[in-house]
Amino acid sequence: MKIEFRFCPSCGSALSLRQIEGHDLPACPNCEFVAWKGPKVAVALVASDPQGRILVIRRGISPGRGGWAFPGGYVDDEEDPAFGAARECLEETGCEAAVDELAGVFHVVTEDGGLVVLAYRGRLTAGEPTPTPEAPELGCFDPEQLPELVFSSHRRAFDAWQAGRAQVD
Ligand SMILES: [Zn+2]
Repeated sequence: MKIEFRFCPSCGSALSLRQIEGHDLPACPNCEFVAWKGPKVAVALVASDPQGRILVIRRGISPGRGGWAFPGGYVDDEEDPAFGAARECLEETGCEAAVDELAGVFHVVTEDGGLVVLAYRGRLTAGEPTPTPEAPELGCFDPEQLPELVFSSHRRAFDAWQAGRAQVD
């Protein structure tokens, strides 16, 4: 859901559109407030188990409900994104993961606005994949047999993960 400012959160005046640096932005006529727009930041974790299989979930919630994806989600304010990737993995799958290097950064524009997805490579270190409301179905798959992923950013992340794996092998 996209939230638009209608009133100035600083002084309460009704906002009006003002052209600033080429963008029409809600701005306050009585003070300095401008509702600047920036992308949200999300993480995805491409985590492999000791057999080299990749953990994916069938999403139980929107966006992408019913589709397959890597564990991930929005980064909390003041949270290191790599920590967020491990946190989301644990919350969604019951699996602890070590987060290694960045696989890639992917920008997408959704109906809710811009999104920057940081995709990490990782390794599952403890725990068994356990269904949760966010991931009612999940499992580890051979990379060659991974289900079709619902998000374009995750498909690109998997491509980047595979390209990185080729360099390591
Ligand atoms: Zn104001």
